[in-house]
Amino acid sequence: MKQAKVRLYVEHPLGAGQSVPLEREAAHYLFGVMRMSEGDPVLLFNGTDGEWRCSVAEAGKRKGVLLCEEQTKPLRMPPDLWLMFAPIKKARTDFIVEKAAEMGAARILPVQTEFTNSERIRQDRLQAHAVEAAEQCGGTYVPEVTELQRLDKVLADWPKDRQLMFCDEAEVGSTARLGAASGEKWAILIGPEGGFSTAERDRLKALPFAHVVSLGPRILRADTAAVAAMTLWQQALGDWV
Ligand code: SAH
Repeated sequence: MKQAKVRLYVEHPLGAGQSVPLEREAAHYLFGVMRMSEGDPVLLFNGTDGEWRCSVAEAGKRKGVLLCEEQTKPLRMPPDLWLMFAPIKKARTDFIVEKAAEMGAARILPVQTEFTNSERIRQDRLQAHAVEAAEQCGGTYVPEVTELQRLDKVLADWPKDRQLMFCDEAEVGSTARLGAASGEKWAILIGPEGGFSTAERDRLKALPFAHVVSLGPRILRADTAAVAAMTLWQQALGDWV
């Protein structure tokens, strides 16, 4: 059996014998760029039905059809972890979204804090980065990237059963750790280049669901901090076992 070289996310149901029509862009990629033809295998996932080995049933320039043959992976949900971060420069924001999807975040929430430099994000572009990361890392789930929201609003609407790992640069070099924290629903919060304001810090530290954490003796850039925090969380409470 030929090995599938391409793994794609589609917004279409997948199941034995299911045919999947391709959108223009996917058809162009498979048949124009990857030069695939009828009978060639492709792996598909849609975020709910696991991963399926499919074969090309019809190949056209701008369209095509794939046929699902067998399930190659069941759906595997990531832990219920949100990554909240203040958007920074474009390339670094893209990096954070890509890494969050690879590291196993269930939801990615850009938040606007007092010192956040960028007031706009392209949610659709960021979502596309999350899809690409899932395609590349073998995941069967794509985390949702939400629109930019104000941090104070997110905290005001906070679900009371979710805990918060507040990565606070003021704790640089301190012993603040996750420790014996437990629970299933979590969020990680990473600040912008300018860090958190005193008012934000005071508010965050007073929240009953917040755990203040230090990420070591050096100040990390926000993109590094996001990956480091997800690593710590995954190791302590996530699905790395
Ligand atoms: N300009 C700020 C640093 C911001 S670093 C200053 O000089 O103080 C960007 C974000 O990464 C911070 O808001 C925090 O969420 C996280 N971060 C970076 N280093 C950290 C550390 N050592 N401990 C905890 N959080 C850290």
